[in-house]
Amino acid sequence: MSVSETAETVMLADVALPIPLPRALTYLVPEKLAATATPGRRVLCTLGTRRIVGVVIAVRQGEKQEGKKPILSVLAGISLPEDLVVFVARLASYYLAPIGEVVRLALPPADKEAARVVEEPTLFSEAKGISVRQVQWVLPTELVETSIKAGPARLLAYLRAHGALPLSRLEDQFGGARATVKKLRELGLVTVEERDAIRDPFFMEPILRDTELAPTAPQQVAMDALAAALAPERGPTTFLLHGVTGSGKTEVYLRAIAEAKRLHRGTIMLVPEIALTPQLISRFRARFGDDVAVLHSGLTPRERFDMWARLRAGEVDVAIGARSALFAPIRALGLVIVDEEHDSSFKQEEGVRYHARDMAILRAHMLSGVCVLGSATPSLETVQLARSGKATKLVLPDRARAQEMPRVHIVDLRAIGPGPTGDKRISLLLHRAIEETLAAKEQTILFLNRRGFAPSIRCEGCGELASCPNCTVALTLHKKKGGTMRCHWCDYEAPLPLRCKKCDSDRIALEGLGTEKLEETLSVAFPNAVIARLDRDVATGKQIEKVLDRVRSREVDILVGTQMVTKGHDLPFVTLVGVINADAALSIPDFRASERAFQLLVQVAGRAGRGDTPGRVLVQTYDPDHHAIKYAAKHDVNGFIERELRDRKELAYPPFSRMALVRVDSLDEKETQEATALLARAARDSARGGEPFALTVLGPTPAPIAKVRNRFRFRIMLRSTSREHLRKATLAIHAAVGQLPRAVRVAIDIDPVGLL
Ligand code: ADP
Ligand code: ZN
Ligand code: ZN
Repeated sequence: MSVSETAETVMLADVALPIPLPRALTYLVPEKLAATATPGRRVLCTLGTRRIVGVVIAVRQGEKQEGKKPILSVLAGISLPEDLVVFVARLASYYLAPIGEVVRLALPPADKEAARVVEEPTLFSEAKGISVRQVQWVLPTELVETSIKAGPARLLAYLRAHGALPLSRLEDQFGGARATVKKLRELGLVTVEERDAIRDPFFMEPILRDTELAPTAPQQVAMDALAAALAPERGPTTFLLHGVTGSGKTEVYLRAIAEAKRLHRGTIMLVPEIALTPQLISRFRARFGDDVAVLHSGLTPRERFDMWARLRAGEVDVAIGARSALFAPIRALGLVIVDEEHDSSFKQEEGVRYHARDMAILRAHMLSGVCVLGSATPSLETVQLARSGKATKLVLPDRARAQEMPRVHIVDLRAIGPGPTGDKRISLLLHRAIEETLAAKEQTILFLNRRGFAPSIRCEGCGELASCPNCTVALTLHKKKGGTMRCHWCDYEAPLPLRCKKCDSDRIALEGLGTEKLEETLSVAFPNAVIARLDRDVATGKQIEKVLDRVRSREVDILVGTQMVTKGHDLPFVTLVGVINADAALSIPDFRASERAFQLLVQVAGRAGRGDTPGRVLVQTYDPDHHAIKYAAKHDVNGFIERELRDRKELAYPPFSRMALVRVDSLDEKETQEATALLARAARDSARGGEPFALTVLGPTPAPIAKVRNRFRFRIMLRSTSREHLRKATLAIHAAVGQLPRAVRVAIDIDPVGLL
């Protein structure tokens, strides 16, 4: 052992175990394991009578204590990089999340199996026995060329800009690449080596030909700023890249990644899951070849593990993925990009309730790296970061290809009647606009945030609304399979009854409009049009991309869908976007409802007119004077931000305060309420003696949806302008959870996003 041992001090290791314990447990490090039981390594320990695999979080000298058990062995195979261990520990502490659960997020999938409680350790052997295809990679050398012809010089310059690339990729890009590479190799300007091909279905996708575009002036400014910040001697920096839809943010990201590569720094890029389409991936592949790990939901655990192992080994230095890619084991991480940073999918709403956007800043900064938060409709949190000087704002004010922003018309449903369908939610104006678009052989997107056929089912005899027996939620009628009433919060399903259970009336009315019904109504009204639907009932995973492909190839005339249609798809022949009911998003009981509605409207409007023909957008509403609608119609993001920030400040809502939401549930209503009351008292007691009004504790109150899956839900809302006061209160609640009956579940949600 390198450290001399006095009588009392011994080596101790804090080990995160894959069980919901709040903290890591401390074990003795036997002398023979001192060299290998380092942070990030997986170790076998005893817990009670069981043996269990954990991950070492920290190692330290400490006093010898009776009863501390030793680590039994250090496991071979994978380990977490040390910087990731530090990050995970800080994340767990910030969110008051069990360290073992957070470590799980960072482990590759295959190892999650091994990390389960085991009797004997299943030693993990990496990719053993799996045959991998070898492909040729071309690498530039340090040699300076003397005089070579223009063709080879171009290929060489390309290679130097991008780093190593597979030969096949160069063949896609340059005619006669194979011969050119041979020549360059003879001159000593490149080397060729065999590498394992990564098994990922997306590698089979046809690769776009890469066109490096001459940047627009604002793009250049942004690229220069990011390049300067990436220089190793510079400290950590956060950027807000505010660019209108179609302004070329992706091109800025691509250049920043190339610059990071040049500096031998790795990149993580987070995108909403829905944006992880072959279209985006092809753009990255075209630029960087197979040097990009794409962590998408279509990967098998095996493929995911392959990616993880390559990133961990430093063979691949760019990872793109949804939320969870935040934990990618990138070597020498220097750049973390969050595209569509306002998107609420970056917040995990179960298990460890972390916000990947907030943690992206931490992850980048821990390594003196750069964090870029990009959006056309930045979140108020990020805007406030820029205003307070904690982030640098970069602006791309115009669309890159000089297309005009679509014209937005507000359709006042109080004044405009229904079109020929007789349904007032397909107004005459919208109906005519669809007709015109069809006649011009262009495409329409219709956005409606309700799936199913009819969102509510009511007895006209007694007024009773059909609701879920397990949840306080109205049932939605889905027409498929002959009419089923379904709960969107649990698995409950029942056939549509012929008579009311309560009053026996047969007058059962279907109320409201869902995407399924909209599709049906349109197919009757426009019998010659091809209509497709995109929502969770028809499309998951690869099917989403299939629907979008059909739209892209102009097979589809009208696309109907939920939020799925609002995301950053580039569909050049869409010239009309209709928002069926802009008010739905505004009526949600959440202080972010206006912000969410505004973002939704601007994003969906951004789908129109991305090709050569200008687009138009019709927004139907009963509330045309609402500021979210008015500013969205003018594409006035800054105007909206000003107004909304003023409102938030007045009410002391985030970003001018911090919040925590404590969610409590159990099968017994009274028990839940009492447990919540106990936690609320703990929070209030924590503030006693401090400054008055430093902490607001609201509750216990029933949740807006008071019962889900037969569990009664209560909550406490905490708010404070002081991070410290809020922390004190949440820690007090966390400590009090131990006093509650075991059947009561508590989730502490720090910086909550979804308030339902
Ligand atoms: P955003 O991510 O901001 O919505 P994209 O990066 O998808 O925008 O770019 C929108 C379109 O503009 C794409 O078709 C892209 O190829 C094109 N584009 C981007 N930058 C340029 C440029 N400098 N010159 C010409 N076209 C560009
Ligand atoms: Zn009835
Ligand atoms: Zn239900």
